[in-house]
Amino acid sequence: MTYDWIIIGGGAAGSFAAANLADRGMSVLLLEKGNKLMGKVKVSGGGRCNVTHQVKTTNELIPAYPRGGKALHNLFKAFGPKEMEAWLSKRGIELHAEADGRMFPETNDSQTIIDCFERSMQGTRVMLSAEVTNITKAEDHFIVTTTQSNYEGKKLLLAAGGFLKGALRESVKALGHHFEEEVPSLFTFNLPQHPIVALTGLVAENAIASIPGTPLKSEGPLLITHWGLSGPCILKLSSLAARYIAERQNQFDVKIQWINDLSENEFKTWFQQHRQVHGKRKIYSHCPFELPTRLWQFLLFEANVPEHLNWGDLNKESLAKMIQALYHSNIPVNGKTTFKEEFVTCGGIQLGEINLKNMESKHVPDLHFAGEVVDVDAITGGYNFQFAWSSAIAAIQ
Ligand SMILES: Cc1cc2nc3c(=O)[nH]c(=O)nc-3n(C[C@H](O)[C@H](O)[C@H](O)COP(=O)(O)OP(=O)(O)OC[C@H]3O[C@@H](n4cnc5c(N)ncnc54)[C@H](O)[C@@H]3O)c2cc1C
Repeated sequence: MTYDWIIIGGGAAGSFAAANLADRGMSVLLLEKGNKLMGKVKVSGGGRCNVTHQVKTTNELIPAYPRGGKALHNLFKAFGPKEMEAWLSKRGIELHAEADGRMFPETNDSQTIIDCFERSMQGTRVMLSAEVTNITKAEDHFIVTTTQSNYEGKKLLLAAGGFLKGALRESVKALGHHFEEEVPSLFTFNLPQHPIVALTGLVAENAIASIPGTPLKSEGPLLITHWGLSGPCILKLSSLAARYIAERQNQFDVKIQWINDLSENEFKTWFQQHRQVHGKRKIYSHCPFELPTRLWQFLLFEANVPEHLNWGDLNKESLAKMIQALYHSNIPVNGKTTFKEEFVTCGGIQLGEINLKNMESKHVPDLHFAGEVVDVDAITGGYNFQFAWSSAIAAIQ
């Protein structure tokens, strides 16, 4: 038989597409190389599945996608976080938002989402352990070769995830598509032997991390771990700078501004007032900013500020060193570590070759794409799944 749709990949995007095609009276075949559907959804968000991100307008989503950005506006306008929330609600699943905007199912269990999609895709023929090794286009249909058999479909949705490999990658290239080189995104920075790792567990609530000599910069909570730097501020920078970091084989410098409540100039004015009021206070004994005391003391030590010194006795030279340590900590990074096993792929099928209205190939009619297989990825917070949902809906309109 010739299926109306063949979906390659039973992950987030492919399964969501199947769930939405099921009530349209079409024949749908879903081919998944693994032995279960939605493996990543299951482990996502620490097993809770961060389904999407709460936003007021579509525009708020755009900065979360270093690859994709503005080009995704219309996709999100057509089916964004509100639409996803409504889609789930219609099927009896409510989401709740955390203070930082991340949205999870009320059950805090990713299985809720998996069960819902599986219920919704009833009627779909699902083939597990079916790795697709080739796709070719005949006159008016596709021939899809798997390790088990050949299948024919009028329309094809490629939703095989990031870093497409092997024969399937070659057959997508043979159909005329090009790949933006794939590199990892969303990771933490390793600082082997750097003394700061002794402060493991401490958080600078409002830090700014940047890469010197580039506009790449992010802000937010920064966590010191026993191997280096982590937390939202660092993960976001790893996403913004994914390609830059890969090109340097994970050897680069990161600049940390530890306090964000005052600019450097404001700090100088603040210091003059502070030394008048608290001139007899020891600098080490109390941190006047939102920083853990041990981190404050570490930075003072790094700046060679003598331990016994009072605010009133700080000379110009030590003040300059203190400002350097607080605002321009330059730290050499040597390697990366995966963050709680969560990562995404930067790169993939070039967006210029895809009509983003319906995710259809500009080279091959009826060939559509969804999810991480294309050159779109985001920072953490539910944005990667949101693209999987939005692109899947667009692809099957
Ligand atoms: C541990 C972890 C936690 C995460 N948590 C979150 C989160 O909470 N929120 C969020 O927004 N994002 C999260 N992400 C990112 C998110 O999981 C991905 O962006 C998303 O799954 C991409 O969906 P996809 O359908 O494109 O790819 P996938 O979900 O990876 O699915 C692709 C599927 O295609 C199959 N496949 C591949 N090749 C073939 C082939 N040749 N033939 C047949 N099948 C094939 C794969 O086996 C896989 O099942 C997380 C990622 C990881 C690794």
